[in-house]
Amino acid sequence: MIVREWKEAELITGEEVEEMSTNTQDAVRKDWDTYFMDIAYMVSTRSRCPRRHVGSVLVQGKKLLGTAYNGAPMGVQDCLEAGCMISEEIEMKLMDGKEQLFKKQRCIRTIHAEQNLLLFTDRADREGSTVYVTDQPCWTCANMLANSGIIEIVYHRSYPKDSEKVVALMAQKGITFRCLDHFAPPAGAHMEVSS
Ligand SMILES: [Zn+2]
Ligand SMILES: [Zn+2]
Repeated sequence: MIVREWKEAELITGEEVEEMSTNTQDAVRKDWDTYFMDIAYMVSTRSRCPRRHVGSVLVQGKKLLGTAYNGAPMGVQDCLEAGCMISEEIEMKLMDGKEQLFKKQRCIRTIHAEQNLLLFTDRADREGSTVYVTDQPCWTCANMLANSGIIEIVYHRSYPKDSEKVVALMAQKGITFRCLDHFAPPAGAHMEVSS
């Protein structure tokens, strides 16, 4: 009886089952892009600006070297304590083929996630690394990232305002600039934003 059971166990742990279990693991295992973008979204939930939650992570190879979100400087009142610091800007948009002017409000109290990431990581760590960020970087962040040693930026939500010049900058600088179109943020970490 014992011998028979052992034989059955031997059969079950054969190559076929090993393959089955690998397939099951592959089906549930997240790819690296999803893994790091998930983390960026979780990091964004730390933000205290009610207008926009942005998270970013620095990745060297497959190693996580830093995380940051948009927020006021440490020790200073944040958006929830003092309210957002609103700046009004006039922007131009194409509407039905015509250029039209719009008044746009933005919160300028926070240091952007990408800028905080640069403030809290070392240049040596950034050389040849990738930044995952929940939102397409604005012009200022893109300009700073372009000079930071990183070679790739992966983002999820688009930011149309600066997109054209940011894409041109990345192409000129030779930085890979990718949008994770099909990514779905983890439950509870996604906040609606107006661009
Ligand atoms: Zn704010
Ligand atoms: Zn920015």
